[in-house]
Amino acid sequence: MFRVNLTDLDREGSKEIRGELSPEDPLWNDLEEERPSRALRVDLTLTTTSSGQVIARGSMQTELERSCRRCLEPVTVEIDEELSLVWSIPDELGEEDDGEIRLLEPTSNELELGEALREEFLLAVPRFALCSETCAGLCPRCGVNRNETTCDCTLEERDPRWDALRELQTE
Ligand SMILES: [Zn+2]
Ligand SMILES: [Zn+2]
Repeated sequence: MFRVNLTDLDREGSKEIRGELSPEDPLWNDLEEERPSRALRVDLTLTTTSSGQVIARGSMQTELERSCRRCLEPVTVEIDEELSLVWSIPDELGEEDDGEIRLLEPTSNELELGEALREEFLLAVPRFALCSETCAGLCPRCGVNRNETTCDCTLEERDPRWDALRELQTE
């Protein structure tokens, strides 16, 4: 499904690629936490340029499960990314290699999109997740989830600014 015949693409001028990559797809095999929890939906339009580049524009959507950075509860993160991918044959690349351009296999008549989709997915995964902007997190002293329950720890915390004052009073 994500394999494109470049001869056909050249002849037809453009090609729509719509499909899903299952979370069980071997493409995700070496990923542990950072893998989609539901099918990755892909919607791309591929075109070619006169210099032999292949351009794919569209979007991908999926979800993944992460832990909230503050309270460690599971959070479902939505991924909805615009995609703009470019492949070029190595000779055409010249000086413009800014890392955004992927190389076409010069000897292959096919373009496999899977690896690029995997990379774009990983780039789209947020570094950390929050269950809510107002998540109160875990108590650093007793470890309770402060979104669910309260503890007395904060009441016992001493404000160091009062320590100097207390010392003065006991002298
Ligand atoms: Zn949280
Ligand atoms: Zn506490």
